Amino acid sequence: MPILPLNSSVVNKIAAGEVIERPASVVKELLENAVDSGASRIELHLEQGGRQLIRVTDNGCGIAVDELQLAVTNHATSKIATADDLFSVATMGFRGEALASISEVSRTMLRSRTAGSESGAEMLVTGGQVHAPQPAGCPIGTTVEVRDLFFNTPVRERFLKTPQTEVGHATEAFTRLALANPPIHMRMTHGGREVFDLAPTTDWHERIAMLFGDELASGLIEVASVDGQVKLRGYVANPMHSRANGRLQYLLLNGRTIRDRSLQHALGEAYRGLLLTGRFPICFLRIDMPPNMVDVNVHPTKLEVRFQDGGRLYSQLLSTLRSKFLATDLRATARSDSPVADENEAAAATPTTPSEIVRWAQRELANQRVDGPSDSIGPPHRATGEPLVLHELPADFRERRMAEQLANGEARPPMSPPTSPAASTAASAKPDAITDSFKAIQLHNRYLIVESSAGLEIIDQHALHERILYEQIRHKLEGAGLESQRLLVPEPVDLSTTECQALLEQRDVLAKLGIEIDAFGGDTVLVRSYPSMLANLPPADVVTSIASQLATSEQSPSSVELVDELLHSISCKAAVKYGDRLAPGEVQALLAERHLTQNHHHCPHGRPTALVFSCDDLDKQFQRQ
Ligand code: ADP
Ligand code: MG
Repeated sequence: MPILPLNSSVVNKIAAGEVIERPASVVKELLENAVDSGASRIELHLEQGGRQLIRVTDNGCGIAVDELQLAVTNHATSKIATADDLFSVATMGFRGEALASISEVSRTMLRSRTAGSESGAEMLVTGGQVHAPQPAGCPIGTTVEVRDLFFNTPVRERFLKTPQTEVGHATEAFTRLALANPPIHMRMTHGGREVFDLAPTTDWHERIAMLFGDELASGLIEVASVDGQVKLRGYVANPMHSRANGRLQYLLLNGRTIRDRSLQHALGEAYRGLLLTGRFPICFLRIDMPPNMVDVNVHPTKLEVRFQDGGRLYSQLLSTLRSKFLATDLRATARSDSPVADENEAAAATPTTPSEIVRWAQRELANQRVDGPSDSIGPPHRATGEPLVLHELPADFRERRMAEQLANGEARPPMSPPTSPAASTAASAKPDAITDSFKAIQLHNRYLIVESSAGLEIIDQHALHERILYEQIRHKLEGAGLESQRLLVPEPVDLSTTECQALLEQRDVLAKLGIEIDAFGGDTVLVRSYPSMLANLPPADVVTSIASQLATSEQSPSSVELVDELLHSISCKAAVKYGDRLAPGEVQALLAERHLTQNHHHCPHGRPTALVFSCDDLDKQFQRQ
């Protein structure tokens, strides 16, 4: 076939395929246009879940008669003019393809009047065929009616679900827009029924309550933080309220609902240990940053975005929530409908009813038993008394010796470089070497609390140890590789066929990591040697988990990322766990190593290893300032 340019109708149908999937997509696009028009009131009406009719009316700026046709032309927009504008988009729309796509696959009517004109005009577009605009009497603003969606694309139409399902999706689209725009009066009706009538408000919490009910709203905890030009604010639920899926996680970036795996992960991390497995946190968070710090043009419906500094945002979200949880008595807001049960009795059963969950959460949070391993969260615990693997792989002998001396209380760590004069005078008159002492308290077998020159730090023992080990292993790999131990009796490990193949393909990489394996026939491999630093963990467990990681990894086998992934999992496995009791010498050694390790502020996954509370922060909290 010769190469021919596609005609505009085909182009629009292709674009419609990307942007318009179901009535909810039309609802989203029309509501966004109405928001962009500066309207203070927007109404959405649906018939038959939107399959028969979707109508959006706004009282915004309107479209001039002579621009009606342009509005439904592909790549025609009033919102950006040059490619540079793409990096400072402040409107919801900018691609100029929504109305063109919608009117290609439906019978669309636009009626509009601008503030400057005496009367309005009305224009019909039937399956992409544009009719001449006609004069029409109407108030200032725009009404768009979309009838018989997909009437000319039967394949799409067949994918539509029942009106109830479709109206559910449309309601979600409405909710997102309503959540992002509390000052706009927004109303939604379906058939003869009113779904929402949301009075305008400047109070975000009030809009959340209108959309999700007072009960949910009243249990929310307010959070806020600023990092450079990035503002984060909003509400998160007390861990006693959670959901079986992530649908009640609303993230708004500059007023636009986004989905972001990394931020969802940060959220999950912030609630780690506070929620039962399989439960998801609830949140309503707004992130605001200058438009040039994020690319919103990476996804046709703009649901996904690309941040300039995603890692920093991840840390900001995580640390904001963590510090808030630490500073909040989460139990105070818990409304238990029965008295807290005896700890041992409650620990035995899996909580299922709300009151059981409340009790479970209270127990976790109040976990008073500083001595014993905590009972129901996290992986199996290292038995107390087992040596902490910390010095297996010192960067060099001097460091190892230093750590040992520290562990025995014989030496002080090298002094960290002096902090700025302002910071040190503000904090304390004592020199750094003394204020930066290693007097630490282990809290609930999870966190280490240390006095520092600036104030106080709460260290996540697992995250810090993981980071230290990760750096040490990386250092080793650049040299001779990891020290390994030959197993007296090689250990056979049974795997699946793909896992076995994936593992054997990576024999060289594994050998560098100190793991020597051979094929043993069938889907079994033989582990001959094993990294000394993992000596406390059964080889079969570690090799199985690496094999499954390799089998599911999307990284190309030779890539640096793959090695890095393996480094992560090895350091994670070898590190002390959340819940492990540490001997005083181990705490000292851990803190000593911290000063010898680069990047110790974050674990290899990017989670912070420590939260810092400056004396200033504390003074403020105690209202001394
Ligand atoms: P985009 O929103 O990406 O610009 P659309 O196809 O959604 O593309 O809309 C095309 C143009 O039509 C918009 O740029 C805007 O100028 C105009 N328009 C659409 N809907 C409205 C509305 N409700 N009020 C005012 N102008 C509108
Ligand atoms: Mg638009």
